[in-house]
Amino acid sequence: MSPSHQSYGVVPGWLLFYALIAVALALFAWRAVFLVRVMLAGRPANRWDKIPARVLSVVVNVFGQARLIRGDFWPGLMHATIFWGFCILTLGTIEFFGKGVTEAFHLPFMSNTALYLILQDTFSLGVILAIAYAAFRRIVTKPRRLTLSAEGLFILLLIFGLMVTDLVADAGRIILAPAPSDHWQFAGAALAAALAHLPEAAVRGIFQAAWWLHATLILAFLVYLPYSKHLHVMAAPLNVFFGPQTPKGKFPTEDLESAESFGVGAITEFTWKDLFDLYNCTECGRCTSACPANVSGKELDPKWLILNLQEHLLESGPSLLGKAGNGGNGKHADAPAHEKPMVGGIIHDNVLWACTTCRWCVEACPVFIEHVPKIVDMRRWLVLTESRFPAELQPTFRNLETNSNPFQMSWQTRTDWAKDLGVKVMSDVGKAEYLYWVGCYGSFDERNRKVARAFVKLLQAAGVDFAILGNEEKCSGEPARRLGNEYLYQTLAQGNVETLKRYQFQTIVTACPHCFNTIRNEYPDFDGRFKVIHHSQLLDELVASGRLKTAKKHDERITYHDACNLGRYNDVYEEPRRVLASTARTDLVEMSLNRKKGFCCGGGGGRAWMEENEGRRVSQVRVEQAMEVKPDILASACPFCLTMFEDGVKSKEVADKIKTRDIAEILAESLE
Ligand code: SF4
Ligand code: SF4
Repeated sequence: MSPSHQSYGVVPGWLLFYALIAVALALFAWRAVFLVRVMLAGRPANRWDKIPARVLSVVVNVFGQARLIRGDFWPGLMHATIFWGFCILTLGTIEFFGKGVTEAFHLPFMSNTALYLILQDTFSLGVILAIAYAAFRRIVTKPRRLTLSAEGLFILLLIFGLMVTDLVADAGRIILAPAPSDHWQFAGAALAAALAHLPEAAVRGIFQAAWWLHATLILAFLVYLPYSKHLHVMAAPLNVFFGPQTPKGKFPTEDLESAESFGVGAITEFTWKDLFDLYNCTECGRCTSACPANVSGKELDPKWLILNLQEHLLESGPSLLGKAGNGGNGKHADAPAHEKPMVGGIIHDNVLWACTTCRWCVEACPVFIEHVPKIVDMRRWLVLTESRFPAELQPTFRNLETNSNPFQMSWQTRTDWAKDLGVKVMSDVGKAEYLYWVGCYGSFDERNRKVARAFVKLLQAAGVDFAILGNEEKCSGEPARRLGNEYLYQTLAQGNVETLKRYQFQTIVTACPHCFNTIRNEYPDFDGRFKVIHHSQLLDELVASGRLKTAKKHDERITYHDACNLGRYNDVYEEPRRVLASTARTDLVEMSLNRKKGFCCGGGGGRAWMEENEGRRVSQVRVEQAMEVKPDILASACPFCLTMFEDGVKSKEVADKIKTRDIAEILAESLE
């Protein structure tokens, strides 16, 4: 809308206009102050470090809308159009209201510049189209991840109204007070041409109605924003700015020495950033769309996890402010007595235990909400404060405590798999170029011992100088940490760091992505700073350098499954694919969900040691996805995935058609 409305005196009632602005701002501020005070009732968290990286993330993901467009192209483009349209039209709105205060007000490079006027009309039309597409999806195509809500439709209608009233008011102004730059407003000018035959009084009436409606809608939107899911319009840029800047695979290390309770059992035991996350949910459902727990029929739905916590926070807000409303640390502020407990009441235990910590939800969320740390925090509370966890985890924790592995195997048998291989042990040699971290699956599980042996065969064929820790190796602690047993994790991690520091090596190499992630990203909290690589990376290097030569290339169709701890957590996608490509005469075939969008095998987050009684088995769902591309081999580079797929192909009765192999086994079979 042109801001020159005042100069030709067609908009009456400026006093009413100022009064409306004052009321809208007061209502907005009232709610905003409440939300900020409630948020600050959370525990402290430092999100003011790494400012340049934070600013860059805002530029790329807020202004560039990169994550949205990359995640789901057409809906992403639709949202980006609305967002960019909002940015352009917000400048116009600032000038619109500024001129209401003083006619001299104007933003630089704005009024009547060709670029702005063209952009304004382009985006007005673009937003109208995007709104129509959004409504079509919600009402007609109904994708699973979207919920059709009255609020969602109301907001679409509100935005549509803003765009239409803007164009109609512009058309009226063009007829009543033409300006030389009007032709740049191509949509407004076209509408003006269509209305030009009307009597002037009618045009004036249309203009005034559109102008007032537009102003009222803007102010209504401002007031409605902080009460609705569209709060994200204002909050999301900040949430992206305050997003995590630590390695993706690093979970917070809890101070077990000074804590009075462990984990998070009440809403104010979350950090302020966790609480701010809850204000940001747009209800888009991207997190749920490929959540393996949800897709396989479990009660866990990451969208509703966030929305239920949000509702609980806002309902508890007034009473929280009564107890922790001084903006201080609300660590022990309890929910009002009439309310359900947060863990077990608002969020059921089985919701928390269903998570595989695959990180799909975090990666998919356009507003950078961090679901997984919240889930693990609540698991910590269940395990360490409440001693409440599924019965089958009791032996797992006991085995980790007594034998330093999750299986019921004596720690003294850890090196049995390597007895006849001539593998050096660190306690004998003291140093080696590579320390091969075998992991519990490679050490104790019959199927994965074959992978360990294949990997050793490859290292020996390439003449790599390596040694293992032997019986000194303990579980990395990863399953214990993901299952919420932070105490057990820290004990194991500290023990391993001490052992590793006794020996000289340049690099740790492991075939287990879980150990890889934990030693690489989480051990630095215990002063364990090591160079850690995954076996796919070393094998890729050995093949590329010619130290490993593949001679017996095969013709089988291979599809490769990305392990979450390798891919989404550590961005290792291409190395295992290159290793596999070196063994085959044919190209790899990709499942529809691959790389960043890979679907979990179901074994992460400690789920490998838990029953899967609810819904279907995640591994079956993934095997079905693999079956769609008709592979001869379902390849992976993770012992958890391999174990899950061994089960998956058997339960789908396709074990005779689809072989499940680690990349090391496939490479070893094709050696000269
Ligand atoms: S981490 Fe994976 S399993 Fe857990 S809630 Fe997110 S998407 Fe679902
Ligand atoms: S948590 Fe994120 S991805 Fe999930 S519904 Fe909310 S905004 Fe969308």
